[in-house]
Amino acid sequence: MNGHFSAVGEGPAPHRYEHGIQVIDEDKVFNSNLNDYLQESHVAEAGFNYHLISVFGSQSTGKSTLLNYLFGTEFSVMSETARRQTTKGIWLSKNKKETADDGATKMADNILVMDVEGTDGRERGEDQDFERKSALFALATSEVLIVNIWEHQVGLYQGANMGLLKTVFEVNLQLFLKDKQSNTRSLLFFVIRDHLGTTPLSNLRDTLIQDLTKIWSSIAKPSGLEDSRIEDYFDFAFAALPHKILQPDKFTQEVEKLGARFTAGHRSTKDQEFLGGVFLPEYHRRIPADGLSVYAEGVWDQIVNNKDLDLPTQQELLAQFRCDEISREVLVGFDEVIAPLEEKQAEAVRLGRPAVLEGLGAAASGARERAVTQFDAQAGRYHKGVYARKRAELEAKIDTRLKALYQGQLSAAHKAGVAAFSEAVTNAIKAGQKSGGSYEFADIVEKAKGEALQAFKTEAQSLAIPGVAWSNFKPQYLLFERELDDVSARLRKEELRRLAVRVERWVKSRLGDAVGLEFSKLGSGRAGTGAPPEAGDKDKPTEKDLWDRVWNLFVAIVQEAEERFADRAKSFEASEAEVQVGLWRLRRKSWVALREKIDEEVMEGNILLKLRENFEDKFRYDEAGVPRIWRPTDDIEGIYTRARESTLALIPLLSRFRLSETFAPPDLAAWIGPQPAGAEAEDEDDLPPIGGVDEDEGKSLEEEMTILSESKRQDLVVRFKKTADGVYVEAKRSAIGGITQ
Ligand code: GDP
Ligand code: MG
Repeated sequence: MNGHFSAVGEGPAPHRYEHGIQVIDEDKVFNSNLNDYLQESHVAEAGFNYHLISVFGSQSTGKSTLLNYLFGTEFSVMSETARRQTTKGIWLSKNKKETADDGATKMADNILVMDVEGTDGRERGEDQDFERKSALFALATSEVLIVNIWEHQVGLYQGANMGLLKTVFEVNLQLFLKDKQSNTRSLLFFVIRDHLGTTPLSNLRDTLIQDLTKIWSSIAKPSGLEDSRIEDYFDFAFAALPHKILQPDKFTQEVEKLGARFTAGHRSTKDQEFLGGVFLPEYHRRIPADGLSVYAEGVWDQIVNNKDLDLPTQQELLAQFRCDEISREVLVGFDEVIAPLEEKQAEAVRLGRPAVLEGLGAAASGARERAVTQFDAQAGRYHKGVYARKRAELEAKIDTRLKALYQGQLSAAHKAGVAAFSEAVTNAIKAGQKSGGSYEFADIVEKAKGEALQAFKTEAQSLAIPGVAWSNFKPQYLLFERELDDVSARLRKEELRRLAVRVERWVKSRLGDAVGLEFSKLGSGRAGTGAPPEAGDKDKPTEKDLWDRVWNLFVAIVQEAEERFADRAKSFEASEAEVQVGLWRLRRKSWVALREKIDEEVMEGNILLKLRENFEDKFRYDEAGVPRIWRPTDDIEGIYTRARESTLALIPLLSRFRLSETFAPPDLAAWIGPQPAGAEAEDEDDLPPIGGVDEDEGKSLEEEMTILSESKRQDLVVRFKKTADGVYVEAKRSAIGGITQ
């Protein structure tokens, strides 16, 4: 290692690169700290706003000295006494004279200067190889090549400098062979040293141009480029400097003037003459400063391994490398925002409580926007095709994360929204029931649905990324709405059930009163067969038309209940089919309720009591309703037998539900009606089978309408007779007792 190679030293940071950095050492090894140097000297952040100059020339022609004077660099120069070579390999340093002492801009920003090991081969004569390699490297990277030459060397066509220029031209053609699209040119800037002044610069210039043209025509040109001219690739500039030691003041002055030429310039459109400084845009290699180190290393690697140097490929490789690097960098910032949110979401899911993360849309799309903008700012300078591809890759990476996050968010919003909706409806119903039961189900649902949809929409819209198709969440919104409708349907069904229960309760209560009343009339013989039926008023209720009255009452009550049910159900937008199912169920349940009520009325104790009352009414009271006082002369036995037979006649009547007109049971199946579509889906547990209606249940209508079984009937007859006998005996006793009294 070179003793001046300070980049590796552990010295205090500000002095690490006081001599610049040795980019290529004498063993042709590339220094991977170059980027470090570019970072430290703030060139790395300059994008394209930097310039690269290389200096060429024979050994010990004062190249390093010139650079140090021109750019304030501190390249090692040969000591005037020791006479040994100092510059080894290729050194690079940033211009330290950007601004004048008074702060005024003197030169272009960020000029990087490369001091290339001398090429006359006196010290490394055996190594002509390095000359070629360093020339290739300089041409691949530099805008301006300073050719440092003694005045007395001008015109010495066979001189070492001419050999160098020949090499430069050859490698340049080699580069262009691989990069025909390129319109990059280079400036060959001849600096003539120890100019005596006797030969004007213009003469020296003409001589040099002649020599250059000669060299150009002498080199073997690759096929396809045979007719190319030197002007196709190079521009020329010239400067002369007086002898540094003999005319130190003049030297300094002229260097000062020369330095002023290192500013941006352009070609006049009229005569193609240079205007301004030497840095023309077409000289720039268009390698972004933050990629310069990687590019230079790649180029050097190709050169040192004797591979064909293919700059477009190098630029693509560089673009891939840098775009990946930039992508990783911007993803770090993205990750800082997104990872905690992902973690939060995952945690919530793990706990089974999907959470809607607050402000997710703003945070996430902000992070996305920042990442992409940062990427564009840096990567956009690289190879367009590679950049576009890597940008798409970055977006895909970001969007994969965001999609998952957003999906989780919307799924949480969906779940939360459905739960909130269901709860809002249920609570509103409860509140309505508490405050007297008046509430409109349809209104409650509509309001809650509107709120739920709005909340979901707001969340979905907050996640939308302008211009990004996948972030349109309309399908999720529609899905959510559909689920709300499903939930509404379920809640409506529940509401319908509640309504059905209320109406059924009402039917039961009405039936309880009305049927109870009809049966209690049985207890009064005069209301029924107190008088012989045939003698009774046609309009007056008779025991014979008990079932007609019960049936009519029943039909009327259910009719009213049906109207109530249908009205109410329609008010909350139950469908016609749902209403029909509800009505069908209501009729069935009402019949079952009636049947239960009748069963209760004919329960052993109840019916026996009724029969006894009926009998006693006929036996103990006369036709005028006056209680009989039995006298021995009375036909107790006759009255007893008539009353008993009359009451006994009630038993078969009670045993079967029959309408007097047809002497047949009512057509229950027709009254209930066929099972409407949709009723099958209902829970059938609360719908016991009805004889004659549910045919496959094996119970006939006759059985359904049998109120008292044959055995119960006989049992009832026996027991009633005993009761009647008891009453008769008592009457007999009282008649005899009346005489003895
Ligand atoms: P390099 O090898 O081309 O980088 O040359 P150096 O800058 O190391 O200088 C080589 C020698 O030339 C040193 O002894 C300098 O003092 C001397 N030198 C520098 N500038 C000039 C100049 O303008 N004229 C002459 N004659 N000698 C110079
Ligand atoms: Mg030197």
